[in-house]
Amino acid sequence: MNLKIAVLGAGVMGNGIAHSLAVGGFDVELYDPIEAARIGAIEQIRKNLAKGVERGKLSAGEADVALKRVKPAVTLAAARDCGLVIEAVPEEMALKHAIFKELSTVCPPATILATNTSALSITEIAASATEPSRVVGMHYFNPAHIMRLVEVVRGLETADRAVEVVESVAKQCGKETVLINEAPGFATSRINAMIGNEAFYMLMEGVASARDIDKALKLGLNHPMGPFEMIDLVGLDTRLKVLEYLHATLGEKFRPCPLLVKYVKAGRLGRKVGRGVYDYPDK
Ligand code: NAD
Repeated sequence: MNLKIAVLGAGVMGNGIAHSLAVGGFDVELYDPIEAARIGAIEQIRKNLAKGVERGKLSAGEADVALKRVKPAVTLAAARDCGLVIEAVPEEMALKHAIFKELSTVCPPATILATNTSALSITEIAASATEPSRVVGMHYFNPAHIMRLVEVVRGLETADRAVEVVESVAKQCGKETVLINEAPGFATSRINAMIGNEAFYMLMEGVASARDIDKALKLGLNHPMGPFEMIDLVGLDTRLKVLEYLHATLGEKFRPCPLLVKYVKAGRLGRKVGRGVYDYPDK
């Protein structure tokens, strides 16, 4: 499949998604309004590709070709001639609405519009696009260039063609997909947010230290990462937004733990800022 793809948002997820698409053979326009985010993302992709070469995942030549496929874009107009757009901007419905409304004027009707939202309603995001049938959820996992799953989420109006295009793109990039009928938090975020929130309640209650809760889940339950390591990777602000949404849609069992709220207020947002549950002095 030969398709030019726009990725909107060059943050934690945007750079990993662009990396995965470029290695899969797609030309990518990576748009972010913040110059530092665009520069940082290209640098991150370069570093991650180099790690891939060290680990024998791809050759140095393939990494060079992949890096050249990713073009930083300074306006949303870069999505104009793309067959697929993948949105990875912060988890706020108002922002997603503004972007999908603008995309409807920028892109021709055949362009498929995907969102990497962790939990929000695809149907609600699609309502701001002129053709809601072309909007579909394409939920990657962090780090997106390594994790193998993409949750494909069908909203109320999503057309079969939109599902087929994103499934083919994911497959070409070596990903596995699952097809989810829209529900808050899909399959993965719903369970993951619940585990992470419970871990925060346990920390707040003094049940054990963060290190020991992480160790317990890794060694006792065979989780590859502890819940606090995971939340530091995801971003505490992103996780809080997911929990707030699940609380509003699915009820009391998802009420965000006050300690998590406190950490976010303190600016302890995770690895991306050098401090979350744990400290990352090198960041
Ligand atoms: P992030 O904060 O790391 O990055 C968001 C980027 O979007 C920033 O660089 C910001 O400058 C940019 N941005 C802001 N407004 C924009 C606009 N109008 N147009 C284009 N770019 C804009 O966030 P993230 O963690 O990458 O999350 C992005 C999306 O992916 C969210 O919906 C989140 O829920 C979802 N998601 C996150 C994870 C995770 O582990 N972090 C996993 C799966 C899905």
